[in-house]
Amino acid sequence: MTEKSYTAEQKAVAERFRHVRDRLTEACVKVGRDPAEVTLMGVTKMVPPERIAAAVNEGLSCIGENYVQEYLSKANAIPKQTECHFIGHLQTNKAKQIVGKVHMIQSVDSIRLAEIIDRLSEEKGIQTPVLVEINIGNEESKSGVSENNLMPLLEEISKLSHISVRGLMIIPPVTDSEVKKRQVFSKTHQLFIDIRDKKIHNITMQVLSMGMSADYELAVAHGSTMVRVGTAIFGDRKYPTKVQSDKV
Ligand SMILES: *Cc1c(COP(=O)(O)O)cnc(C)c1O
Repeated sequence: MTEKSYTAEQKAVAERFRHVRDRLTEACVKVGRDPAEVTLMGVTKMVPPERIAAAVNEGLSCIGENYVQEYLSKANAIPKQTECHFIGHLQTNKAKQIVGKVHMIQSVDSIRLAEIIDRLSEEKGIQTPVLVEINIGNEESKSGVSENNLMPLLEEISKLSHISVRGLMIIPPVTDSEVKKRQVFSKTHQLFIDIRDKKIHNITMQVLSMGMSADYELAVAHGSTMVRVGTAIFGDRKYPTKVQSDKV
């Protein structure tokens, strides 16, 4: 694909992508981090393949999808070299459709889900890399393991041999307060470091997935190694009822 052949929508995506990438690089440099340490993930829920292709053409190498059905229906149209991660809430009865089809599952938050992913991976003869999602604000409506249950969960997962924990993921509580966000990010970073230093079998802390369109620069200042950016690259999402029904 050449830039000249872009549609108006693809051109807009390409421009936004470059803008985000440049801001991310600046944010890294500002806090003395090597930009190569931080992966820019494009969050592509509700984003049609043509737009994804434009961002990939500009250098996007990793995408995140939230909904099983939507991802499976788009998977063939996503450029082959792109790393695909599952970042949405994964129902145990849908795990079968996702295990082996993505590079990483970022939303493991229960031993039940971990055991199912482990068993499905064993059947396929693979080992599935995952992140453990923490509900850092202990918000009732959110998925993610509570802070209190985090260590017990990691210890249980550590016994499973076909799933391997590579890090942590959070979706911070919605807030306009930069102070609160900083607190959440630095607390998560501290957990990441503490767990890394414990050197638990089969648990490594390589990926700290935090930061979205509104706060990725802040997240990078607090140790994020992967920012998940949707709107700032692809524009506002339209939620057709067809796809949304996959959420329930
Ligand atoms: C939608 C989503 C994002 C991206 O959100 P934006 O605000 O559009 O950048 C990141 N992470 C997860 C888990 C999401 O569901």
